[in-house]
Amino acid sequence: MQFQYDQLLLQMLIVQIPIILYLVISNDRGDKAGENVLWGILCAITMGLSVSFSIILDGIRLDSRMVPWYLAFIYGGNYAGILVTVCFFIVRLLYGGIGMVPSFIGMLISVVFIFWTKNKFHTLIVKKKIYLSVLFVSFSSAMLPIIALLFGKDLTTMTTLLNYSLFVLVNGLLAWFSIYLIESHREKMLLRKEIQRNEKMQVVGELAASVAHEIRNPMTSIKGFLQLLTKADNLSAPQKEYLNISLEELNRANEIISDYLSLGKSQSRKKHSVLDLELEAKKSISSLSSYAMLFNVDVAFEIQGRAVIMGNSAQIQQMFVNLIKNAIEAAAKNVQVSIRQNEKEVHILICDDGEGMSADQLDKLGLPFYSTKEKGTGLGLMVTLQIIKELGGKWRVTSDKKRGTMFHITFSEI
Ligand code: ADP
Ligand code: MG
Repeated sequence: MQFQYDQLLLQMLIVQIPIILYLVISNDRGDKAGENVLWGILCAITMGLSVSFSIILDGIRLDSRMVPWYLAFIYGGNYAGILVTVCFFIVRLLYGGIGMVPSFIGMLISVVFIFWTKNKFHTLIVKKKIYLSVLFVSFSSAMLPIIALLFGKDLTTMTTLLNYSLFVLVNGLLAWFSIYLIESHREKMLLRKEIQRNEKMQVVGELAASVAHEIRNPMTSIKGFLQLLTKADNLSAPQKEYLNISLEELNRANEIISDYLSLGKSQSRKKHSVLDLELEAKKSISSLSSYAMLFNVDVAFEIQGRAVIMGNSAQIQQMFVNLIKNAIEAAAKNVQVSIRQNEKEVHILICDDGEGMSADQLDKLGLPFYSTKEKGTGLGLMVTLQIIKELGGKWRVTSDKKRGTMFHITFSEI
């Protein structure tokens, strides 16, 4: 009995269909549900084609159905996976034959294992994703002949064994190739998103900073004259009140302009020195004490170990102030600022028990002008993240609509 190489090549080509179509069609518009449905349908069609053009050996159909089935579960989620599974049962039932029952049993066992693999998969690095997929697809493909053997089929001749081994090998190879293609495509998409984001920030930053600079000078003279006016003694009480409001609003405008100005400046030009984070954090917290009181929020501070980094004091304080200010604005009752030092790293945690953020909000975090507040500028976080980046730090945010938000910043210690 000869192996049907042409059929084998056809199987390999069929499995590429969903991947190629997906790479062309998929975009980053973020319509996750729509994309999952599309992916499920593509995988189901591929699986159907794969089974239709199977290599039939002694009544057993050998094909690459496991690959689109696996890809549907991994990249499309449970619904897409179940859709492909149901389609498989229907298609396989239509073809019938002695291999039908073993293939149903094999599929059911694989479905149980896929749930375990699926959860693990997305936490892995690309290399391990490929290993895991190759192992899974090879084992689930090898299961078919093993089950057929248990059903009393004689598969022990040399050629049959060779054919089955080749079939398992091809499926493993296809899994490797598919995961590699999809993962590298995803990586490129992420990179593109990041570049677009950075470009947007740069343009906004430069433009805003130049405008802000021009506005600052006339504002300084307005402020000076208003201050002079407050000293006049023939003012009525309401007039004094109006002047005070004008001065307050001018101060607020000045703060906003400071935010804009720090966008355009290259932070790396600033002078760096050895900084004690405990001191910087305490200064920032005390400068916000009246603000916290206004919101009726308690700001607690704790430190473990010695936290010393290289940086610019004004920048670090700006980072603390922006983050703690946001936390105070969101918090219900408490804000906790903690600093921990371990293994050459300093961790800063800023937690609040406030309203939290949804996945969509988290995605937009740090974009210029993104604010959910009535009087917000949507610049504080953008500046903060820029500062962290320029100081070589990393940041991560976890947020829960019920429990609040935690910003976790890591710097390397000196
Ligand atoms: P602003 O404070 O002026 O709105 P920011 O850049 O500081 O601008 O913050 C952007 C947005 O991020 C906020 O409007 C808010 O929706 C969200 N945000 C930031 N920090 C928190 C937090 N601790 N809890 C909930 N939402 C937050
Ligand atoms: Mg803010």
